[in-house]
Amino acid sequence: MIEVSNLGKNYGSVKVLSGVNLSIQKSEVVCILGPSGSGKSTLLRSMALLETYQEGAIYIEGELLGFKEAGGKRRPATAKETSYTRRNVGFVFQQFNLWPHLNALSNVALPLMLARSLSRSAAEKKAIEMLERVGLASHAKSYPSRLSGGQQQRVAIARALAPDPHIMLFDEPTSALDPELVGEVLQVMKSLAREGMTMAVVTHEMGFAAQMADQIVFLDGGKLVSKAPPEEFFRESTNPRIQQFLSNFT
Ligand code: ATP
Ligand code: MG
Repeated sequence: MIEVSNLGKNYGSVKVLSGVNLSIQKSEVVCILGPSGSGKSTLLRSMALLETYQEGAIYIEGELLGFKEAGGKRRPATAKETSYTRRNVGFVFQQFNLWPHLNALSNVALPLMLARSLSRSAAEKKAIEMLERVGLASHAKSYPSRLSGGQQQRVAIARALAPDPHIMLFDEPTSALDPELVGEVLQVMKSLAREGMTMAVVTHEMGFAAQMADQIVFLDGGKLVSKAPPEEFFRESTNPRIQQFLSNFT
C-alpha cells in the first residue's frame, strides 16, 4: 500500500533521512517513534508530499510519489500529476491547523468543495457525517476558538477523513493537548484503526503504540534502526538508543 524504499532527504547540505525502508500494508497501523530531531516528521511529511525527497522512492498503491520516471530518468511530478495520489493521503498535524475564521462544518466541507469539486450542499452533507464519526455533529456551527484542543483535533481528523483517503498520517496528534484531552483523540484514532484504516502515527503515547500498532519503527539520526511488532519492540529491544528512549516513559 505504502512502500518507502531507500528514502533519503536533505535540507541543503544537512542529511535528515537516509536509507529508510518501510512498507505499510492495507489496514496496518504503524507507529513511528524516536527522539526529537530524528526525522519522524520529515518521513511522515514526505509520505504526504508536504516535503520533496532526493533519494529513493515512495510508492502509494504502486504509484511513485512526487516524481515521474521514464527511460531511467526522473523528473519532479507536476501538481496536477500528484493531485490524485495526494488525495489518497490524509494528514493530521500536531497543531490542528484549522482555519480560525471557519466553523467546524466549513473546515471539513471546504476542502471537499475545493479539492473534490463537490457542491456546497454535498460537501456539507459529507462534513456532517464526518463530524458525527468523531462525535462532534452537535458542534458543527462552532468556531475553532470555541472548541477545546481535543475537539479541534477531532475536527481536524474529520477534515482529513472527508475525502476518503486510503491512508491517514498523524504527526504527534495529541502532543499539543492537555493531558485530560488526549484520551478522546486516541479513542477516535482507535476506532479508525479498528475499522481497518491504514495509519502511520508519530506518537509518544506508548500505550497507544503498544495496544494498536502492528509494527513499531524507531528512527534515530535519520535512520530507521528498528522495525518490530510491539511485543518484541517493548520487551526485547537490546538497542541502547531504544532502551534510553524508552526509559523516559517509565
Ligand atoms: P520532533 O520529535 O522534535 O518533532 P522529528 O523527529 O519530527 O523531531 P524532524 O522535524 O523530522 O524531526 O527533523 C529532522 C531534522 O531535520 C532535524 O535536525 C531538524 O532540525 C531538521 N529540519 C526539519 N525541518 C527543517 C527545515 N525546514 N529546514 C532545515 N532543517 C530542517
Ligand atoms: Mg516532529
